[in-house]
Amino acid sequence: MGCAGGKAPGYQLTSFLINEELLLDGGSAASGLSIEEQAKLTGVVVSHAHLDHIAELPYLADNIFGLREDSLKIIGARDVLEVIQKSIFNNAVWPDFCEICHEDTPILDFSSIEERETRSLGGIRFTPYAVNHKGTTFGFILEDSECALLYTSDTGPTEAIWRGAAEVDDLRAIITEVSFPNKMEELARMSRHLTPAMLHAEIGKMPPEVPVYIFHIKAQYGDETRAEIEALGEPRIQVLEEGMTYHL
Ligand SMILES: [Zn+2]
Ligand SMILES: [Zn+2]
Repeated sequence: MGCAGGKAPGYQLTSFLINEELLLDGGSAASGLSIEEQAKLTGVVVSHAHLDHIAELPYLADNIFGLREDSLKIIGARDVLEVIQKSIFNNAVWPDFCEICHEDTPILDFSSIEERETRSLGGIRFTPYAVNHKGTTFGFILEDSECALLYTSDTGPTEAIWRGAAEVDDLRAIITEVSFPNKMEELARMSRHLTPAMLHAEIGKMPPEVPVYIFHIKAQYGDETRAEIEALGEPRIQVLEEGMTYHL
């Protein structure tokens, strides 16, 4: 639904609908889905607490009120969920939808997950791996009965998730980030993101021949960053486009 690291026309915040039930990050959770689709979700898996990944969770909670019988699960690292609860669902910025009930059932159910703990939701198994970003951040390997998908979320150069990837059968796609153009490598390293040149170095750690999809390009450097990714000349890399469906 959204695959950008900033918000501007044509740049929606990060959210991937994996099947009809599982949402990966909540940046476009409310604007990228119809109300009916929002009400059908089983859960949202949150990679970290940065605003571009959680921005529309408050509107999602509001939109589904009264439209479902069970709670919507919000799954992430314990300290990530605490930050979201304390800074947003705190009855000051937005109501605490873990307390607000529809027929005695809370609207949201925050459920923490540990690194390397595998959970299942809506027919998808997912396992978190800590990646190299500011604040606790999990990338995920997601699997169903047929294939697997790897999502690094926001990260600088990282290791553990690539070791995890080597053990997965039938990995069909890698979603990883590039945020800034090459001239901003210092900022990328400081904020723990990648530039196209840093991605090029990172590619060597990834399982060979698996398609690599790029998200998180910053809007104001979009054209420059895309041109630099293109110039890498890596046929397996493509930049994700928002609003598109990708079949694995
Ligand atoms: Zn981000
Ligand atoms: Zn981030």
